[in-house]
Amino acid sequence: MAPAVQILKQHKLRVTPFRVDVLDIFVVAEHALSAAEIESRLSDPDRITLYRTLKSFEEKGIIHKAIDGTSQTKFAMCDAHCHEHSHRDEHVHFHCLKCENTFCIDTVFIPEVTLPEGFRVAQTDMIVSGMCEKCVLNNKQ
Ligand SMILES: [Zn+2]
Ligand SMILES: [Zn+2]
Ligand SMILES: [Zn+2]
Repeated sequence: MAPAVQILKQHKLRVTPFRVDVLDIFVVAEHALSAAEIESRLSDPDRITLYRTLKSFEEKGIIHKAIDGTSQTKFAMCDAHCHEHSHRDEHVHFHCLKCENTFCIDTVFIPEVTLPEGFRVAQTDMIVSGMCEKCVLNNKQ
């Protein structure tokens, strides 16, 4: 079974050619993708369907927003343990200032933040910016 089909079935989403196409793009993506980037990679793009697809993927725990401090919303694949009612993408997002790509650093977790009394946390995001591996290498040449 193709990975995309398997992921859709695991998250109880009906397998449609469009969903498979979108998921195929995420499976091989090297960095987080904006809707516009996904649209440009689709052979048969349809903006409305794409937005709906991204929304349902996010709700089901297949993808998450990679907050990178820019105004662009980018999405990346979730770890296998994410599901509909429990997204746990508590890793650092890295934003490259040179190529402007955003990467999930899923080996680095966001430390727990202790808030003053009376405050309640809903979500914690951590952005690290700098130069990605590729840009560092290109810079040396
Ligand atoms: Zn998630
Ligand atoms: Zn870069
Ligand atoms: Zn991420």
